[in-house]
Amino acid sequence: MNTYAIGLGNNDILTRKRASQDFVAFWEEQANNLHWFEKWSKPLEWNPPFARWFVNGKINASYNALDVTAQKNSSKTAILWEGENGERRSFTYQELLNYVCKVANVLKSLGVQSGDRVTVYLPMIPELIVSLLACARIGAIHTVIFSGFSSQSIRDRVIDSKSKVIITADGGFRRGEVVKLKGVVDEAISDLDFVEHVLVYQHARNPITMGKKDLRWSDLVTTAQDVCEPEKLDSAHPLYILYTSGTTGKPKGVLHGTGGYLVHLYSTFKWIFDIKESDVYFCTADIGWVTGHSYVVYAPLMHGATQVMYEGAIIFPTPARIWDLVERYKISILYTTPTALRMFMKYGDLLPNSKDLSSLRLLGTVGEPINPEVWEWYFRVIGKERCPIVDTWWQTETGGTLVSPVPGLETIPLKPGSATRGLPGINVAVVDEQGNELPPDTKGYLVVRDPWPGMLLSLWEDDEKYKSVYWSKYKTMYYPGDYAIQDKDGYFWMLGRADDVLKVAGHRLGTSEIESGFVSYKSVAEAAVCGIPHEVKGESIIVFLVLREGITSSKELERELIEHIRKVVGPIATPDHLYFVSKLPKTRSGKIMRRLLKSVANNEKIGDISTLEDEAAVDEVRTAFNELSQTIQQNKTK
Ligand code: ATP
Ligand code: MG
Repeated sequence: MNTYAIGLGNNDILTRKRASQDFVAFWEEQANNLHWFEKWSKPLEWNPPFARWFVNGKINASYNALDVTAQKNSSKTAILWEGENGERRSFTYQELLNYVCKVANVLKSLGVQSGDRVTVYLPMIPELIVSLLACARIGAIHTVIFSGFSSQSIRDRVIDSKSKVIITADGGFRRGEVVKLKGVVDEAISDLDFVEHVLVYQHARNPITMGKKDLRWSDLVTTAQDVCEPEKLDSAHPLYILYTSGTTGKPKGVLHGTGGYLVHLYSTFKWIFDIKESDVYFCTADIGWVTGHSYVVYAPLMHGATQVMYEGAIIFPTPARIWDLVERYKISILYTTPTALRMFMKYGDLLPNSKDLSSLRLLGTVGEPINPEVWEWYFRVIGKERCPIVDTWWQTETGGTLVSPVPGLETIPLKPGSATRGLPGINVAVVDEQGNELPPDTKGYLVVRDPWPGMLLSLWEDDEKYKSVYWSKYKTMYYPGDYAIQDKDGYFWMLGRADDVLKVAGHRLGTSEIESGFVSYKSVAEAAVCGIPHEVKGESIIVFLVLREGITSSKELERELIEHIRKVVGPIATPDHLYFVSKLPKTRSGKIMRRLLKSVANNEKIGDISTLEDEAAVDEVRTAFNELSQTIQQNKTK
C-alpha cells in the first residue's frame, strides 16, 4: 500500500486535543467564529435521538453567508458563473447581498412567512443560490429539487413539504439541449391548491405559457427594495428539507436546522479545504444535492471565498471542459465525485495533460467510495503529485463531512481509497451487530457515537421514521447504513452500503472492495457488483463492467479479468458471471444503484426508481440477467 505524506505544512495539534477532551465545549468554541444576534444559553440539549445545538441562540444563515463579508470586503468576488453555452456572469458579495434582499422582499410580498416551505427547481444558475439565501433571510424553509427530476418526482416532494411557493425557470442547459423546467412544474402542481405562486426566472429563452399562479421573476425582482433585514432566527429553526439521493430506496426528507449546521460547515470547510483569501474554489456538485447545499452555498460563502459555478454537463462540448475551467479561472481547490473522475479517466490522460492545471493545490472527492486506482490517477494526472486529496465521507443526514483528511489542520500520510480519520469533535467507530467496537482491520458497521452539530433535526414530519431508520439498529448510536473497516492506523475504509454486503462462502465482502479490484485493471472504467442466491455458497457474485474508451470485450479479456480479481482481492471474489455493458444504472447524483441490480437479478419489483438517471441502463441490465437465467436454466436441464 502506497502512502502519500503530501500536506500543506499545517500542524495544529491543539484542535484535536481540545475536541477529544470535551466535544461539546469544543463545538461551542467553534460557534464563536460565526455571527450571532444573541448568544446561546446552552451549547447542546441532547434528548436522544434529538439534538438541539446552541439553544436559544439567534442567528441568520444569509447574514453569515453574505453580510459578514460584504461589510468587510464588499468588492470581493463571490461567484464566477459560467453557462454551458459559454455565457458568463460574476457577483461580488455586495451584489449578491442586494440581489438576495430583493428576492427576499418579493417572497415576503407573496405572503411567505417564517417557517413556510418554498420549493426551488432551478438549473445551476446564480439565481439558485440567491433563492436559497432569500428564503434563509426571512426564515422560510427551502426545499430544492434537482432540475433533472420529472413532474412525478416534483409532485411527490411538493406534496410532502406542502410548499406555498415554487421558484423555477423557463429552462436550463444540458449537453447543448434546453431542459424545459416550467412545463414540468405545471404538470406536477396543476391540481395542488396549496401552491399559491410560481415564480419563473427567464434563463433559456424557452417559450412558456403563464398560468394564473405564475409570476415573472424580472417583473417583481427588478423593482424590489435591495435591503431586507435578516430575521433573527432560533438556532434550531429549520433551514431546509432535502430529499436524499434514493440510492437505497425511496428518498427521505432530511430536515436541517440553522445554528449547529452552520457551525459544522464553517469549521469543516476550513479544516478540510484549508480555505485562503486567494483561493478559487470549484465544487462540481449540483445544488440539488446536499454537497451543493453545504459546500457550494453555505460553507464557501461563510468564508468569503470566491467560487466557480457551472451550469450544464462538465464534459460538454468536449470532455476537456472541466480542465478548461480550471485553466481559465485558475481554480485552486477542486471538489468532485468518484463517478465524475472515472469518467474523466476513461477519456485518458491527454486532455488534462494538454491544459495548465498548475493553479490546483487541493483536490477533493465525495459521494461514493473512491477506487484506489482512481485516487492515484487524480493524484498523479490532475494534482501532479503536489496536491493532497481529501476523500470526504458524509451524508445528506450528517449535514457536513464527518470523516476526511484535514490538511487545513494537520499533515498526515494519505492512503488511496481511505477517507482517513474522523474529524475533530466527531466520534465515529466500526462496530459489530451488537454495537461492540471491533478490533482493527475487521469489517463492520460505521456508527457515530456522539451527536454532532450538522446532524439532521429529524425527517420532515416523520419523527418515527427518523427513529427507526437511524436509531433502531443501535439505540444510542447513529447508524448511517454504511459498511466499513478501520485499519491499525485508525484510518477508515468505506466499503459501500451495509445492505449491499455480499456473503460468499461465509465471507463478508463489501461491494466496493470487489468493484475497486476490477477498476484497478487497465481496461476497466467502471464496475458494479451484486449477489444472487447460490445453493452452496450463499451468494454468488455478478459483476457488470464498463470498459474504457477504445477497448472491446472478448473471452480473452474476461479470462484476464478473472485472473486479475483472484490476484488482487482473492479467489473468494471470483464472479460467477461477468457482463460488459455500455452504462450502469445510476442515481441522478451519479451513484451506482446496486439495489436495482439485485432486484432485477432476484426477479423482484424494482421499487422506487424516481432518482434513476437513465432507464436504458436498466434495460441493458435486464437483458443481461435474462440471458443469465436462461444459461442457468439450460445448465440445470443438462
Ligand atoms: P439514500 O439514502 O436515499 O439511499 P444516498 O445515501 O445515496 O441515498 P446521500 O446522502 O447523497 O444519499 O449519500 C450518502 C452516502 O454516500 C453515504 O451513506 C455513503 O454510502 C456514500 N458516500 C458519500 N461520501 C462517501 C465517501 N467519501 N466514501 C464512501 N462513501 C461515501
Ligand atoms: Mg443514504
